Amino acid sequence: MRIYLDHNATTPPAPAVVDQIARVSRDFWGNASSVHHFGQQAKAVVDDARAQVAELLGAAAAEIVFTAGGTEADNAALRGAAEALEPTGRRHLITTAIEHEAVLNTVRALAKRGWRVTILPVDRSGVVSVDAVVEALSDDTALVSVMHANNEIGTLQPIAAIADAAHAKGALVHTDAVQTAGKIPLDVRRLGVDLLSLSAHKFYGPKGVGALWVKRGVRLAPFLTGGRQERSRRAGTENVPAIAGLGTAASLTRQSMASEAPRLEALRDHLEEGIIAAVPGAERNGAAQPRVPNTTNISVERVEAESLLIGLDLEGVAVSSGSACSSGTLEPSHVLKAMGLPHARTLGSIRFSLGASNTTAEIDHVIAVLPALVEKLRNLAPTLRR
Ligand code: PLP
Repeated sequence: MRIYLDHNATTPPAPAVVDQIARVSRDFWGNASSVHHFGQQAKAVVDDARAQVAELLGAAAAEIVFTAGGTEADNAALRGAAEALEPTGRRHLITTAIEHEAVLNTVRALAKRGWRVTILPVDRSGVVSVDAVVEALSDDTALVSVMHANNEIGTLQPIAAIADAAHAKGALVHTDAVQTAGKIPLDVRRLGVDLLSLSAHKFYGPKGVGALWVKRGVRLAPFLTGGRQERSRRAGTENVPAIAGLGTAASLTRQSMASEAPRLEALRDHLEEGIIAAVPGAERNGAAQPRVPNTTNISVERVEAESLLIGLDLEGVAVSSGSACSSGTLEPSHVLKAMGLPHARTLGSIRFSLGASNTTAEIDHVIAVLPALVEKLRNLAPTLRR
């Protein structure tokens, strides 16, 4: 039995998504910029997908810019806004210490080019305070970028209040919604932001495709220059099959979310409570609420997360330790570090992220195998102490 509990790293593409990618690759291979029949067929596919993504966000189709994934959408938002606003004299960016590397390293790159950068701390539960944002804002703040949900702990940030505060100072607001799109209802108007990133492979779509929502009227410098695709914001012949796959995934998750979110939340809570009850020294990291319904992050005392991850893999259970995007290194998670957790606790943290295929029987199996595995690892490395 193989149990996949790493859906925040990536999700298996839905069968309808795979079918759509195959169908579009075969039947609609024209260049969407061509005027003839073949081009117009491909353009219609892209237009349909744009409408489907817009519907997921409560946005207008014309506000959607397709990208090559979440990382590119984040880069486009930050670099595009910075370049567009530079002539106005605004040279300050605000973000948080728990952002994905796609935001953090982009902000650091802009800092090297002379941008003043404020990286806000978070509290022990993984939440940034609105007051801290208000305090950091100044007349030269160009952009505030705060993620909607964190990929490691799932905690949701108070985006609407942050957006209000930033707008009062004339700054733009971006949110990385890669971990909320397709998981919880999103409405860009209610969030109040100007820019929002999403990535298809986090909600049963293909990898290497995503979108940046750009509110109508927001000035953003083109992030790939060349042809006139994507209203000249992102040049290059469109990856029509991938875009179609993203559209199908957006449409499927929008329809299934109302029943799937509470189902996953109940399963996740069952897993979290089961592990904490069965494994001595297991604790949840981050706030219980508000949180995306599929994620829990648990530290296990006197165990190294990497060993636990390998042990679980041998039992057929796939999880991750720290951020999947940076696994392969034994660096403690920058998110848990920013929350002020003790070093040992950060090294013993495992992320379980649930998804469509998971069942109660699978969760019961994980709860059943974990205590003995932890016990075995503690006996193998009895010197590991807090
Ligand atoms: N932002 C967040 C919060 C993520 O979790 C990820 C992926 O792990 C990304 C951005 C990057 O998205 P992509 O893998 O599509 O480049």
